[in-house]
Amino acid sequence: MQKSQINIGLLHSLSGPMAISGKMLISTMMMAIEEINQNGGILGKMINPIIEDGESNHNVFAQKAEKLITENNVVSIFGCWTSSARKSVKNIVEKYNSLLWYPTQYEGFEQSPNIIYTGSCLNQQVIPAVKWAISENLCDKCLLVGSDYVFPRTANTLIKTLITQSGGHIIAEKYVSLDSVDFKEVIDILTTEKVDIVFNTINGESNVAFFKRCAGAHLKPEITPIMSFSLSEIELSIIKKYGAGHYACWNYFQGINSKTNKDFINKYYNKFDKSTPISAPVIDAYSQLYLWEKIVKTCQSFNPQDVLKNAAGTVYESPEGIIEILPNNHIRHRAFIGKAAKDGLFQIIKETPVIDPEPWLGIENSREPYKELILEALRNYPDVLHINCSLQDEIEKKKHLEAILELKNIHLLQLTQAVEQSPASIVITDLDGNITYVNPKFISLTGYNFLELKGKNPRILKTEHTPSSVYKNMWHIISSGGIWTGEFLNKKKNGELYWERAAISSIKNTEGKIINYIAVKEDITQQKLIEIALQTSNHKLEENIKEIEKLKNQLYEQAIRDPLTKLYNRRYLEERIDLDFQTAARTKINLSIAMLDIDHFKSINDTFGHDAGDIVLTNLSKFLSNSIRKTDFIYRYGGEEFLLVFIDCDVKSAKILSEKIRMNFSEYISEIDNHKIKVTLSIGISSYPQQGNDFHKIISNADEALYISKNSGRNTVTIWEEKEIK
Ligand code: GH3
Ligand code: MG
Ligand code: MG
Repeated sequence: MQKSQINIGLLHSLSGPMAISGKMLISTMMMAIEEINQNGGILGKMINPIIEDGESNHNVFAQKAEKLITENNVVSIFGCWTSSARKSVKNIVEKYNSLLWYPTQYEGFEQSPNIIYTGSCLNQQVIPAVKWAISENLCDKCLLVGSDYVFPRTANTLIKTLITQSGGHIIAEKYVSLDSVDFKEVIDILTTEKVDIVFNTINGESNVAFFKRCAGAHLKPEITPIMSFSLSEIELSIIKKYGAGHYACWNYFQGINSKTNKDFINKYYNKFDKSTPISAPVIDAYSQLYLWEKIVKTCQSFNPQDVLKNAAGTVYESPEGIIEILPNNHIRHRAFIGKAAKDGLFQIIKETPVIDPEPWLGIENSREPYKELILEALRNYPDVLHINCSLQDEIEKKKHLEAILELKNIHLLQLTQAVEQSPASIVITDLDGNITYVNPKFISLTGYNFLELKGKNPRILKTEHTPSSVYKNMWHIISSGGIWTGEFLNKKKNGELYWERAAISSIKNTEGKIINYIAVKEDITQQKLIEIALQTSNHKLEENIKEIEKLKNQLYEQAIRDPLTKLYNRRYLEERIDLDFQTAARTKINLSIAMLDIDHFKSINDTFGHDAGDIVLTNLSKFLSNSIRKTDFIYRYGGEEFLLVFIDCDVKSAKILSEKIRMNFSEYISEIDNHKIKVTLSIGISSYPQQGNDFHKIISNADEALYISKNSGRNTVTIWEEKEIK
């Protein structure tokens, strides 16, 4: 049959930053419980440990303690590492008149009737260490460095008193936050000033950084020794060589030379990894179980009040040596000064006789008339320090936040000013497109005031000039997170139209969700007006150019045509005849020229008048135009002389054509003032290339042939012949 059980609570941090310390104590306590149960338990009952995780949070410690007492009916709680956790649980065990066993060294100024404190008080650790340093003449110039919380500040107040009383000096007192790795300020002092000893109350992993920085600055333990109060073998095993040669003071070191200690170490390393160091809190946590066992056996009761009543005077031989609970619920300890070796262990260089615990630093034993008042003040001292530290921490955080806020404010102010003073008009709308903000430029441009615009849709500015497809496209782009750019022709409050170029986009919150739309717009009315005016004048210019071109053509036509007959004149002949000859040469065709002269034309003028002569000339022109091919040319060569250019026509064909013209025209009657006038023509012909290589020659030949026609009695066609000239 299974023996009945008695519940106890094991309450340490198994998660969070304090888990590294808490887990080790839980394991050691489980080892003690196993041993006790193997020996038959206590008062016929097996010890049933109920483990709870304080999660490195003092509020959780309080909740879990209450749960252990009220739900698990534990008769004792073994737990807490930090003072804040202990103070939280203190309220619970006092409320339920239960019992807490607290295993670590602490700052004192506390004596709960419901707590048994098994770690050292300041007078059992700090005082022996400082006294040793004074005896070694190391306290002329001291530096204090610690983590910024209650224990280091209390310990340092005590150290300052002791050093000053001994005639020594504190040259600096520095604090860093619990997880700090920045020791520049301290290292600067240590490297520039002669310091005899450093009293170190830095806690946890921060110690690793501190010792590394000291070694990095070539601070040697022989010149600048460090005496630590919270550097256990656990931290030393990590920093190893950097810690070597420095000092610590505890109520236990692994090197204690006693059979009990050696037996314990053997048992411990049979169970745990050999690299796991054994520290004073481990030994205190282990011893607590045996002290409790002894008291329970003495009073034959698990009842916490019975245990508390019978606690004083209980003695136990722990690995540290003989320890005893005194009536103030604290333990009588010895203190050991250890010097760190390279292997991560401390070598004991001094050990004190047992020291009675004085959590009130001896005030409690004095005959001082105002003792109670001083004790009350001291009781509040850690709280005041704690509040002070927290306040300073809060102030620092607040200052930091204020600095960030100020920076953001400046930034915001700059942005606001940029928007307010922007030469561009700016409009911000909500997701439905309703106006939430407009800048002064927008107000001055549109003539609306903010109240008239707030909550309205910017479509109040809209005109029918901007097609609805533009707005549709714009919404599509901006609602999908894009930037739309384009132009609007909008309407001011007074109805005046204005042009604007706009860039519209969305404003997103930190999660990327669209919360607003913003339009940045530029008034481009002036540009647009200039643009339109430019377009109009461009158009006009083009018209003018066309007109000029037309006039130019007319002028040219006038220049190359004879005003009476409208035929090409001699100037045009000279301009293009060379080209016709070149084309004929290139295309290897014949080209014939016929020179015509009206016979006895002078007598027409003389007989019928100059106007009648003009009519004859005009009629002949029309006649000639109708007599030749479209590809041939007629020029008025002189007064009543004409020149015909037959393209692709040899001398024979030219002769036939000319004969036909001569003959037909001799029949032609011009009627002038009831007179029927007939005239005849004399013609001379010459052809390219048979009769000459250039137009000068051919024209001259035709002229000569015409001369011959005249001399042959007129009304004749003559073909130029070489022999004729001779
Ligand atoms: P011929 O048979 O030898 O060619 O005798 P012709 O009278 O025709 O020759 P002439 O050179 O003596 O006279 C030419 C006349 O043509 C002289 C001139 O007054 C006249 N004439 C020249 N140009 C014009 C013109 O544009 N209009 C008129 N009506 N007469 C013109
Ligand atoms: Mg003539
Ligand atoms: Mg004539």
